[in-house]
Amino acid sequence: MKNDWLQPLIDQMYAKHLPHNAGEVASYIPELGKANPNDFGISLATADGQIFEAGDSTRPFTIQSISKPFTYGMAIELHGHAKVSARVGVEPSGDVFNSIQLEKDSHRPFNPMINAGAITVSALLYEHYGDEALEQLLARFSAAAGHPLSVDEAVYQSEKRTGHRNRAIAHLLLNFGMVEEKVEQALDLYFKQCSILVNTRDLAVMGATLSNLGKNPFTGVDVYDIDRVKDMLSIMFTCGLYDYSGEWAYKVGVPAKSGVSGGVMSVVNRQLGFATYSPRLDARGNSCRGIEVCVDLANELGLHVFDCMNMGSSYLKAML
Ligand code: GLU
Repeated sequence: MKNDWLQPLIDQMYAKHLPHNAGEVASYIPELGKANPNDFGISLATADGQIFEAGDSTRPFTIQSISKPFTYGMAIELHGHAKVSARVGVEPSGDVFNSIQLEKDSHRPFNPMINAGAITVSALLYEHYGDEALEQLLARFSAAAGHPLSVDEAVYQSEKRTGHRNRAIAHLLLNFGMVEEKVEQALDLYFKQCSILVNTRDLAVMGATLSNLGKNPFTGVDVYDIDRVKDMLSIMFTCGLYDYSGEWAYKVGVPAKSGVSGGVMSVVNRQLGFATYSPRLDARGNSCRGIEVCVDLANELGLHVFDCMNMGSSYLKAML
């Protein structure tokens, strides 16, 4: 059903939050520091294949940590739950994204949304695909976005050159047997996956694909099995916003993932994908303006999973 009130609402959100200029662009990866701090894009894609957007919705930026749920889904698909959960947990750590802590007894990373867990997941993809891993990953991300995506070479080189902390994490994981010997190749895959170029339209469509039981609503292509979508959305709900995940669940209440280039992708199950881009970050590495917009939109549309106005998506309800 064509909707005529959502576009004015997105326009209104854009205009309302345009003056917001708190936060700093990430510069620990030198190439990210070149982003225009004023860029601001919003896109919303529905599970029935409509797009509503405002501002810099086609401005490219690197996906960074928003890649993490998508690779996690692939790793479970390839290796199964038992093997993946022996290497990476599902507990929010409350730690920063690049924390070097592992679980005390198991030595697993706490979850796949922090760097340690995501590097483990990239290593699992490398373990299965070898040198084909990037191609496979790009094909899957592209299917979710609905068109071919590619790696930003300058950001990749910048991450590779300066990623000493990630390298240290990877070697600690190797020490504890969480990743296999080819740790440099796994890291390389991780740096490349973080450097994939997207815009808010792509992320909204990727989110809409997850909201639509894993099928891209624009192309009709099945991208993820529904059981993997459940895994991905669960981990996004509990761990998607770094050490802000609890507050996010409280205030916005939908599965989401942020990245240090300034993107935030949210999913409303069975309804829509929603993405913002604004590169000024708060101290936790989340987009300041992006979070404000998401809080506002969730309130405006009653998106929070426990909002009394939200009718939910359960089949059970339909059968009662
Ligand atoms: N490539 C970034 C890093 O590993 C990703 C971090 C992020 O977006 O949270 O530092």
